[in-house]
Amino acid sequence: PLVLGIETSCDETGIGIVRGSRLLANVISSSMDEHARYGGVVPEVAARAHLEAMQPALVQALADAGVELHEIDAIAVTSGPGLAGALMVGVAAAKALAVATDKPLYAVNHLVGHVGADVLRDDGTEIDLPTIALLVSGGHTSLLHVRDLVSDVELLGETIDDAAGEAFDKVARLLGLPYPGGPQIDRVAAGGDPRAIRFPRGLSKAKDMERHRYDFSFSGLKTAVARWVEREQDAGTDFSIADVAASFREAVVDILLTKAVAACVDRGVPRLLLGGGVVANARVRELAQERCDAAGIQLRIPPLSLCTDNGAMIAALGAQLVMAGKQPSTLSFSADSTLPVTQIQA
Ligand code: ATP
Ligand code: MG
Ligand code: FE
Repeated sequence: PLVLGIETSCDETGIGIVRGSRLLANVISSSMDEHARYGGVVPEVAARAHLEAMQPALVQALADAGVELHEIDAIAVTSGPGLAGALMVGVAAAKALAVATDKPLYAVNHLVGHVGADVLRDDGTEIDLPTIALLVSGGHTSLLHVRDLVSDVELLGETIDDAAGEAFDKVARLLGLPYPGGPQIDRVAAGGDPRAIRFPRGLSKAKDMERHRYDFSFSGLKTAVARWVEREQDAGTDFSIADVAASFREAVVDILLTKAVAACVDRGVPRLLLGGGVVANARVRELAQERCDAAGIQLRIPPLSLCTDNGAMIAALGAQLVMAGKQPSTLSFSADSTLPVTQIQA
């Protein structure tokens, strides 16, 4: 089926078009620059930006795909989780389009959409299930056990405080680096020693592992970095920002992959799929490959344009729902900022 996907859960307005599992268009308009001076995504600013970007992105996506609106078989939209005001813009646009064109509408889960991105791989191989999926972005850090994309997704764990990307952004800020912090820390860390400072790995102690085996925590790490920097500054030491960045990055990446690989081993699932903007991190990619090779786990990383928020992954998940014979959503659904990952379709 020819499916149009709309994504507005955070700061990317994404319109994607797929035919089955073939990618035809993936237009992304980000309001990231507008949030830079606030050091994080401002919901109200993001929502307004979606409103402005929506129509041009739609026109562009149809042109890129070389299709006309009336040819589309179904529309898919992210209904949650995400920022309520941002989600509402996409949901309203999708409902209006569905009513105007008389097409079926599928309200889908953003996080499962990230997993759905894997069906769009252009090497011809199909998504291999079951898989463990590690989704790491500015708003989420989630570990999933996916047995079936349209009917069986289990949440193994998630962050109990900051998301991994958020931790990168906050630590970058305290090191005096601009927003978004992830790419900045990555750049600075390249010249540093990851073993210079031993920062804490959240929820890795034996007592935490009982209740939070697959959960993450990054606020303690952020505080540890802040304390360390303060102490050095007070002492007047000429410390290396590169060492701090490299050691911090290592702490985040180490715990992410330790828990993800543990989930693969515990569940007897020799596959790990990565998704979310933090996958752009050079060390995440490197260590993921190293750890997966060592444990005999097949690693899958979609191209970056499909890892960060985008409409194509939403279209892809919509197409999977259509192909599985699922009924469209009734138009009374609403944006749900806390939609649980087990609810694949709203
Ligand atoms: P959501 O959480 O809803 O997916 P988001 O907009 O926060 O939305 P993305 O756009 O996927 O998520 O990712 C943005 C985050 O990724 C930011 O926190 C940014 O700092 C982080 N990031 C980007 N590049 C890197 C990198 N090289 N290393 C680490 N983090 C990075
Ligand atoms: Mg974003
Ligand atoms: Fe996302």
